[in-house]
Amino acid sequence: MTIRLVLLGRQGSGKGTQGARLASHYGIAHISTGEMLRNAIKHGTPVGKVVKDIIDNGGLVADDLIGSLVKGRLGESDARTRGYLLDGFPRTLPQAQLLDDIARARPVNVVVDLEVPREMVIARLSARLAAEHRADDSPEAVERRLALYEEQTAPLIAHYRKQGVLAVVDGVGTPDEVFARLVSAIHATTGVASRGGGGQPRR
Ligand code: ADP
Repeated sequence: MTIRLVLLGRQGSGKGTQGARLASHYGIAHISTGEMLRNAIKHGTPVGKVVKDIIDNGGLVADDLIGSLVKGRLGESDARTRGYLLDGFPRTLPQAQLLDDIARARPVNVVVDLEVPREMVIARLSARLAAEHRADDSPEAVERRLALYEEQTAPLIAHYRKQGVLAVVDGVGTPDEVFARLVSAIHATTGVASRGGGGQPRR
């Protein structure tokens, strides 16, 4: 079975790091909407110009804009044939419904909720501000992003639990410990141990 995975988790939960590692472990496309948007800003594209202030302030980009970017990316051949890991999308219920539509023929088969308590991610994000200087890691933007997460993204957990594809993973621990937990939860949910897609997709 090909893995089509959504990674949910608070900002600073380690989604980016673990997402990259999982994507290479399974040989699937790593699709980070935050990275796509930051690249658009860096290259001064029309999308980049629209989203820059929103991102720096810790707000959310409009569902239809992000939806069309993701739809385009999921239509590319690597994502279609080998599977993918989505990091940062969906982030709202309308986005989840959009993804249900986009992926109707080949639905998402595992949604991982990487759980790290709020106090712990706040500490991690303030450390990241010192190291990486992301404008949206300022204390005000972090506060806003976390509030938006609770308000808009946390409800997706129930949405995917209902679909029977949810796996909750404890994100507190060393990166290796957390990675091992993720792989075993993905195995339990999809039956795939590693290098899931590889050849031809079954559906
Ligand atoms: P984080 O989850 O740590 O805030 P990301 O790199 O995933 O960081 O996203 C950075 C910013 O990009 C978000 O704060 C938001 O402004 C924008 N963004 C990314 N994905 C989405 C999305 N699915 N919907 C709306 N905005 C998004």
